[in-house]
Amino acid sequence: MCLLSTGLWLAAVTDIAAQKISPLAKAPDWEWLDACAGTFTRSEFLRILNEHYAPGDAAAAQIRVTDAAAHIRTGPDQWKEVPFAEEGAHPNPGPVRFWRKASELPAAPASKPLKDLHIAIDPGHLGGEWAQMEARYFQIGKTRPVMEGDLTLEVARKLKPMLEAKGARVSLLRSSDEPVTHDRPKSLRAAAAADLSGNSSAPIAPIAPNAERIRLHSELFFYRISEIRSRAVAVNERLKPDLVVCLHFNAEEWGNPEDPQLIPRNHLHALVNGCYGARELEWDDVRSEMLGHLFTRTVEEALPLNETLADALAEVSGLPPFTYFSNNAKRVGNGPYVYARNLLANRLYKAPVVFLEPYVMNSSPVWKRLQMGDYRGVKSVDGASVPSLVSEYASGVAEGLSRYYGQERKRKMED
Ligand SMILES: [Zn+2]
Repeated sequence: MCLLSTGLWLAAVTDIAAQKISPLAKAPDWEWLDACAGTFTRSEFLRILNEHYAPGDAAAAQIRVTDAAAHIRTGPDQWKEVPFAEEGAHPNPGPVRFWRKASELPAAPASKPLKDLHIAIDPGHLGGEWAQMEARYFQIGKTRPVMEGDLTLEVARKLKPMLEAKGARVSLLRSSDEPVTHDRPKSLRAAAAADLSGNSSAPIAPIAPNAERIRLHSELFFYRISEIRSRAVAVNERLKPDLVVCLHFNAEEWGNPEDPQLIPRNHLHALVNGCYGARELEWDDVRSEMLGHLFTRTVEEALPLNETLADALAEVSGLPPFTYFSNNAKRVGNGPYVYARNLLANRLYKAPVVFLEPYVMNSSPVWKRLQMGDYRGVKSVDGASVPSLVSEYASGVAEGLSRYYGQERKRKMED
């Protein structure tokens, strides 16, 4: 469930040395753009910018394209020029990245398609004692409470040995409900209060007294922004994996968490980073991060990865695709399951990110299976023999990753 997870809507702008910086972010150092000269031809740059990252001319105020170069806004009146490669010329490789494409990995036998691949798994949210605060909790009567953060961790634990058996090195971004961030709502009160006072239009319902708004906002700063930023530090500075798999479960509006509504609908989708809006691109840090993905060509790896994993999950689960009707997401790729959308996690992690949103937790069939917990083998549910839901989820992800990395590496083995 990734509702509102960009963290941008709460979004006051911090004016540090005339730069516009999103909450808890650092001002970007634009020097990195120097390594991007000649990475893209003009036509290729315009295609990826307009079709994938900033559809609907969303970057028009921030990126000016002339015949020879992209001019990128780095401040109110500052621009940096990134020259294009000549059409037909061999482009520069672009800025240094730590992750490897499937095509850059050595040959591997069919039994070990993930050999030496470093996979970071991000079990979405926190769960446990934080589940109610992060609004990823509901319970029907005295039944087993449903907590997204606990479920994603259960899937992650199941998935890790499956991937290791296929040769992968696997890092979990968390292994309990202990937050990765050292911040807590209390330590973020001042930042949250400043954010609220800097933006009177913050779309949080005005709750009197003011102290209550600040409490809610500082909680949001904690579990949504600081926590994901801390995981990003682990990914980008310590782990440096070849990809990150973000595990989530979806949900639809359930109303009162003490008396939630179950619905018949159930579906699946995956989110690749992209589809930034004009307002989002006004933030210097967000713009820099988007361009980081663009110039390292992350989407060329992330899109087929998301497609392959979504297809494999659809096969094991039988789930139909979810359809977005909002304009902050755009369907991309060849199949029906993958959307481009700018989330905090798939933007901050400087690697291809697969962001999975299968199973609607408050759909009747999913809720029924979640109540059964994890188990070995299959059990009968409504006349069908099915594995536990966490096993099914983990096996779909393992199959998708094996398929994506295995094909090319096996071919190399046969050459
Ligand atoms: Zn989620």
